[in-house]
Amino acid sequence: MISFKSLTRQNEIGANSYLIKIDNKRILIDAGMHPKVEGKESLPDFSSIIDDHIDAAILSHAHLDHSGSMPVIQRHYPEMPVMMTESTSALAQALLHNSVNVMTSKRNELGMDEYPFFTHKEIHKISKQWCARRPGRSFVLDDQNKVNCTFYEAGHVLGAIGALIEYKGKKIFYTGDVHFEDQSIIKGADFPTDDIDTLILECTRGSSPRPSEYSRKSEAERLAQSIENCLDEGGSVMIPLFAMGKTQETVTMLYELQKERKLRRLSFLIGGLSIKMTKIYDRFSSSVRRNHQGMKLMREKGLLSTPSTRGQIPQITQGNVYTLSSGMMTEKTLSNRLGRQFITNPRNLVASVGYADPESPLAKVLGSEEDESIQIDSNYDPVKRRCSVETFDFSGHSPRENLLEYAQTVCPNRIILVHGDQLSIEWMKQHIKERLPETEVVVPIPSQEIEI
Ligand SMILES: [Zn+2]
Ligand SMILES: [Zn+2]
Repeated sequence: MISFKSLTRQNEIGANSYLIKIDNKRILIDAGMHPKVEGKESLPDFSSIIDDHIDAAILSHAHLDHSGSMPVIQRHYPEMPVMMTESTSALAQALLHNSVNVMTSKRNELGMDEYPFFTHKEIHKISKQWCARRPGRSFVLDDQNKVNCTFYEAGHVLGAIGALIEYKGKKIFYTGDVHFEDQSIIKGADFPTDDIDTLILECTRGSSPRPSEYSRKSEAERLAQSIENCLDEGGSVMIPLFAMGKTQETVTMLYELQKERKLRRLSFLIGGLSIKMTKIYDRFSSSVRRNHQGMKLMREKGLLSTPSTRGQIPQITQGNVYTLSSGMMTEKTLSNRLGRQFITNPRNLVASVGYADPESPLAKVLGSEEDESIQIDSNYDPVKRRCSVETFDFSGHSPRENLLEYAQTVCPNRIILVHGDQLSIEWMKQHIKERLPETEVVVPIPSQEIEI
């Protein structure tokens, strides 16, 4: 008997985690932490699984909504091997250490005694159970050599994979977070299509159509033009970016635009966690399938600049481009701290290139009227937004049309829809049913076991 159980608390992009049972073998896929929920509810619901053994875990990629609770579940299973790519291991360790710091400061500020859920020391300890596996090479997940697994590159961020699990001729494929198109660094997904019985499919962009005239190249040129216009007018540009993935992709895209002479030569200011993450991207620049093989962003002359003192807020000077984290201008991060002053100058531009949660400070900036007073840090008075704002689409997730095309090519017996809000999952369900009437489409109810 093979079964699937979602351990997320709701059907959403939150604390992603799933359990696959294959006869008496139990495989855990991802163990994330919810980015918007505080306390114990931010963890997956592990209560129904910790009474029994787990043979192995798979970590699809380093983002915290997939990796953030791995130390918590590994505490229950100190012997459990956790399979991932080598670059995911490096990125996830850095993100988890940062997560300890964030949780520790929340413990003090919000008086949340349960934080941090784990310590720096524990991360060192549990990462000894992390096993590096290369995409394209089959390996076993259990000590009886019955369940096989192969990783396939997912095109989402460095190290991201989809996992094919095989048992007695049955094939289950988990996409993880996927992008089928090339980004500036990471090449599009290279996924299997043959003889898959069950496809576990992410649905992040199921509710967001992409304009038919969209191309990444024209979107990049539009960004270059906006930066040029702003600098010509004597302003500065801020692009709030997630430290991992988005920073490296965006900076490389700006570098390409400079090479094509669509953007003037100037360096981009990064800080804090982004420096750490960029160094990891650089470390793997020759050993993974990617564009700009061997190019090290930190060593590219004149491309990046860093604050002279660690953690210091950079000075806002005219004609600069600040590529700072965090991506949603979350309180206490560099983009937020600089942002309070930055948005008051009518010559400046805030360019959004990724997802902004509706509750986030960046969404407040983007959604405000010119001259409207907005509060982007709850500890400070509101400030007037006088700068320009513009949004661009450079998502690391596949547009819904490409997800449908992939589902249609695979044509599995069953598709399980995960990693999407309700609207996204509904859209995907309806359209898959139209295109693949023979395929069973399953929206898993959290904590309910489904036979597959
Ligand atoms: Zn992700
Ligand atoms: Zn995700």
